[in-house]
Amino acid sequence: MSDKWVILCDFDGTITFDETFVAILTRFAPVLASELIPQMYDLTLTLKEGVRRIMESIESVHYPEMLEMISAAPIRKGFFEMLGGLAACHIPFLIVTGGVSEFVRAALKGVPEGVSSIYGMTVDHSGPFLKISSNLESESELVAKVRLLDQFPGSRFICIGDSVTDLQLALRCDIVFSRGRLSSYLEDRKIDFFPFENFFDIARILDRIICQPSLEIS
Ligand SMILES: [Mg+2]
Repeated sequence: MSDKWVILCDFDGTITFDETFVAILTRFAPVLASELIPQMYDLTLTLKEGVRRIMESIESVHYPEMLEMISAAPIRKGFFEMLGGLAACHIPFLIVTGGVSEFVRAALKGVPEGVSSIYGMTVDHSGPFLKISSNLESESELVAKVRLLDQFPGSRFICIGDSVTDLQLALRCDIVFSRGRLSSYLEDRKIDFFPFENFFDIARILDRIICQPSLEIS
C-alpha cells in the first residue's frame, strides 16, 4: 500500500475554535440563515443551494466587515505547533473550507508555513450583492472536498473536520480526525474516527502513524 500521505483539513470550527462561517452568515443574513442552516444540518437542503442563497443575499458593502470579523477568530490550540512538526515529514497539508478561502487567509494572517494550499469559495464583491464561485463545485456542494482527492493519485488520505461539509470527504479518507457534528454523522454510519479537541491530540497520533523518520531509515 502507498505510503504517500496527504492531509486535508477543514477550517471553520476545526482550525478556528468556533464555527465562524455560520456565525458570519447568521450575523449578515440572520433571517435566511436561521431558516436554511438547520435544513443543511439535517441534510434536507443541499449545501450548494443553502450556502449560495444565504451568501448571495448579502450586500457587498458588508464584505470588509466580514473579513474583519473572521480575522479576529480564535485559532484552535496546537495548530501552528502541529504544522511545525509536520514540516519535518514533508506531508502535504491542504486547508479546504466549505466557506470562503479569503476568510482562511484573513484568520491565519496569510498562508502559514507548512500549509501547501488553501481551497474554498471565491467571493466577487464588485456588484451590489456578493457572488460566489468555486472550482470544486458538484451537483450538491459548492466546495466538494472529495474532488481534491483525484489530484493525488496513489496517495492515502487523512482528513480533519467537524461538520456537514466534511462528511463526504470523511467517508473517503483512510484516517479521520473528527469533532462536533461530524462525529455524530460518522457514528450513524458506523465509520471509525479519532476524536480530537485540539491539534496537539492530532499531532500525537500523526507522529505515531505516519511521521516516524527513524523507522524510514531502518
Ligand atoms: Mg467546519
